[in-house]
Amino acid sequence: MKNQKARIIGTGRHRLSTDGDGVTTLVAFHGCPLDCRYCLNPQSLGDGSRFREYSPEELYDECRIDELYFIATNGGVTFGGGEPCLRPEFIREFRRYCGPAWQLNLETSLNVPTVNLEALLPVVDALIIDIKDMNPDI
Ligand code: SF4
Repeated sequence: MKNQKARIIGTGRHRLSTDGDGVTTLVAFHGCPLDCRYCLNPQSLGDGSRFREYSPEELYDECRIDELYFIATNGGVTFGGGEPCLRPEFIREFRRYCGPAWQLNLETSLNVPTVNLEALLPVVDALIIDIKDMNPDI
């Protein structure tokens, strides 16, 4: 689906060494398949009344103000949330806008269908993985 919109609860510019290499902009999606009791981003859960809808192009237009920093430091955009791996088509389209020079990272629990990961792996550079538990009852 081209130019689909996604709910984004916030973006954070000029992050250093916390969300991947170089200078990064953190983009936090609304929505997650988990419901961790200790969730640090509870606004990513629930009815999502605190979000803004972006198309990939709109998000690219907002992020590219920092392109010089991204290129100079081998940084880029880190998608978190929420669970970014629920939005493979959005991220694939974002890659088409930003081109190959930006680093694209994912912060994920990997608790998504394998097909989502297969769609994402060709277009992202690094995964920051936080496995919550291996016991499905927990
Ligand atoms: S995986 Fe992350 S965003 Fe999702 S509920 Fe757990 S802590 Fe919150």
